[in-house]
Amino acid sequence: MIIKISDIQDTYTIDHKEDAAAFYDAVNKSSSGGIVINTPVIVRAQIVKELNRFFFKGNLIGALELNCSRCLVDFKYPFDEDFSITLQKSDDSDLVNVHEIELTDDDLLIEQFAGDELDISKVVLEQIILLSPIQPLCNADCKGLCTVCGKNMNEKDCGCERNEGDNPSAVLKNIQ
Ligand SMILES: [Zn+2]
Ligand SMILES: [Zn+2]
Repeated sequence: MIIKISDIQDTYTIDHKEDAAAFYDAVNKSSSGGIVINTPVIVRAQIVKELNRFFFKGNLIGALELNCSRCLVDFKYPFDEDFSITLQKSDDSDLVNVHEIELTDDDLLIEQFAGDELDISKVVLEQIILLSPIQPLCNADCKGLCTVCGKNMNEKDCGCERNEGDNPSAVLKNIQ
């Protein structure tokens, strides 16, 4: 979704269902942070313009396709997250294809952009990458793979004799 900067007066409201394919059109797959989106993402947001700054704030509802870091099974990760980012228009035309993120003293996330078009898909995709878990788990209680035979222990107990130390849930019990 592309917004023309000249169309933004004081505030601009977005209530939009973004097709998954749009995210891959906005970036090439290698820079999508390895995330997979197969379903549309609902973007409800407002852009408030103040001189050359655009305060972009709203909510994203959708789902990611993730791979469990313990049992390696693919699973759907629904999200419903608020986000807030400040976009700053720069006159530097070298910035056309470069999105530079800087943190100010206020820890305000400012993203530079140039040109007369704002690629909302790209900005939203960055927010989705930020909200995706670093170590995805299909379930908080995921038992993972058997360290002896490699079977998915969520499906059935293979009955292997396992070293207590190899079992993630056993480790947790020792801590508690
Ligand atoms: Zn799992
Ligand atoms: Zn086993």
